Amino acid sequence: MSAPSTSSTSAPEQMPPGVMEALLRPSQNRPASRSLASFSDGVTEVVMPESHFLLNKYDLCCPRPECGSLILRTGVAKLIEKPSVQMEPADRTPALLPPMPEPPAVANWWLVTPSPMEFENIGFSKPLSSEPGAAQMKLLVCAECDLGPVGWSEVGGTEFWLACSRVGYRT
Ligand SMILES: [Zn+2]
Repeated sequence: MSAPSTSSTSAPEQMPPGVMEALLRPSQNRPASRSLASFSDGVTEVVMPESHFLLNKYDLCCPRPECGSLILRTGVAKLIEKPSVQMEPADRTPALLPPMPEPPAVANWWLVTPSPMEFENIGFSKPLSSEPGAAQMKLLVCAECDLGPVGWSEVGGTEFWLACSRVGYRT
């Protein structure tokens, strides 16, 4: 007994070509961004001097290539070197984000003050549980795709810290 013949040419098309690609594309045509690691001289290439501070020379955006949501405009954040913060358990860092150095090793941070209004787009996590008496911390995430943590702030605080290694740079 022979198997019934099948023909692929008669199969109906489920979706016109290109539709899935269009659905996955960002809603706006956003230029690509660079990671901090792609600059051969690191942070010195992404700062500009302004009085006594070094400010972000480029727009900062979500590092997810398909997202690229604008987080902060040029010249808003100050570069500050201070101890690293483990914003998530070491084994839970999203693949798109580099791990933070182990505290008390220092890391480079973009300091944004005094309010979240300085950001173009930013999302916040729920407050993390903390030791009694210690300040509660919220994590900063991409407002559009939730990629994070890209930074942190204290609940009710006026300082918002973005990890220089965890944002994209629109050059
Ligand atoms: Zn995003």
